[in-house]
Amino acid sequence: MESYNSFKVAQQQVMESAKLLNLDQATIELLIYPQREFKFTFPVRMDDDKVKIFHAWRIQYNYARGPAKGGIRFHPDETVDTIRALACWMTWKTAVVDLPLGGGKGGVCCDPKTMSERELEAVSRGYIRAIAPIIGIERDIPAPDVYTNPQTMTWMMDEYETIVNKHQPGILTDKPQQVGGTEGRRDATARGGVINVREACKVYGFDPTKTYAIQGFGNAGQRAALLHQELLGGGKLIAVSDSRAAIFNPDGFDPKELVMHKLKTGTVKNFPGAKEIQHNELLTLDVEILYPAALENAITSQNADNIKAKIISELANGPTTPEADIILNKKGVHVIPDILASAGGVTVSYFEMVQDKYSYFWDEEQVQQRLDKKISKAYHTVQEALREKKVHPRLAAMVVGVARVAEACKLRGWV
Ligand code: NAD
Repeated sequence: MESYNSFKVAQQQVMESAKLLNLDQATIELLIYPQREFKFTFPVRMDDDKVKIFHAWRIQYNYARGPAKGGIRFHPDETVDTIRALACWMTWKTAVVDLPLGGGKGGVCCDPKTMSERELEAVSRGYIRAIAPIIGIERDIPAPDVYTNPQTMTWMMDEYETIVNKHQPGILTDKPQQVGGTEGRRDATARGGVINVREACKVYGFDPTKTYAIQGFGNAGQRAALLHQELLGGGKLIAVSDSRAAIFNPDGFDPKELVMHKLKTGTVKNFPGAKEIQHNELLTLDVEILYPAALENAITSQNADNIKAKIISELANGPTTPEADIILNKKGVHVIPDILASAGGVTVSYFEMVQDKYSYFWDEEQVQQRLDKKISKAYHTVQEALREKKVHPRLAAMVVGVARVAEACKLRGWV
């Protein structure tokens, strides 16, 4: 029976890696559960003058390698298990790219699409007031995730600085540059995903100038649309989707025009010259490269067998179920797993933390070069593990990440 509980999926992945690494029982138990969970509610007075109670979480999954790091998601379907899974994946993600950080994640169960700007600000400030005692530059540094953004981070940073009564821009990352943000963060996740594709094409001989498709046209998806062509010297974007529509054009879309259309109308729907297709159809189109950039569990045993892409670069967290992974592996699809493909964002977030600490900022080229170096190195480290352990890429990436975290736990004398 296929599991759709993201946390169960995440735990299963850890257990498989632990087996390959011969980890002892105590280490496994330490790594399959979060070290700290904070569940809370907080009240917000809404625009209709009624008070609404929001349910929220902050989870510090593992901090053996450094302070917990991970985003805050605002989503109506938020559950503790989604956040546990995302926090778990952050732990291996920071380890795979060898950042001195642990993994964490947070979330508020809310529907930002139905909320005013003032209500969003009040929720952001309420959330950070509640977690202020458990976060800190040396403890836990949040960032944005789905339906949160640099503005959300700025409200949260401002509220936190008011509480601690000092300037602390490094408490959150992905801020606008005027308040301690870094160059190069906006496209960092997508850039990391595209750099991985570039390296994969070199190793496996795929042609990145052929076709590509993107599921999810938000921050990561839009940037990937643009950067794919910029960094890989071409490529025809033949399909994209967002929560409202999936669109297709065999002659290719102009990514810049598509981004403009999305900015203007809030959706990719009704883009001139596009044919609307079913959401599921996008995933099984005949493309060279597929970027899932929406939410979890997009590729399952139901559709994996019909996938025709040669490379899947997972910008989204957890878009493929374990059963689908097995099918894709048998079909010879090269999956660049989320913890590697989407690690560009947290890498540049780490660069932002470093710059905030020194209060001295790098130029965009420096950020991009350092990102490229980190991601390329991580890609090839995972390739080595893949060859050595003879496993599929996700397991290889997990093995690299889990081994590093397990070693830190051991060195600390925890296990
Ligand atoms: P976002 O909110 O900016 O965009 C999400 C997009 O997905 C939106 O366009 C939304 O309409 C679309 N979407 C939602 N459900 C969909 C569906 N069923 N089919 C098609 N599209 C759908 O979020 P984002 O920051 O771009 O993040 C996207 C994914 O990438 C998430 O899984 C997130 O955790 C992951 N990620 C993002 C970053 C980052 O830096 N932004 C870093 C690492 C991982």
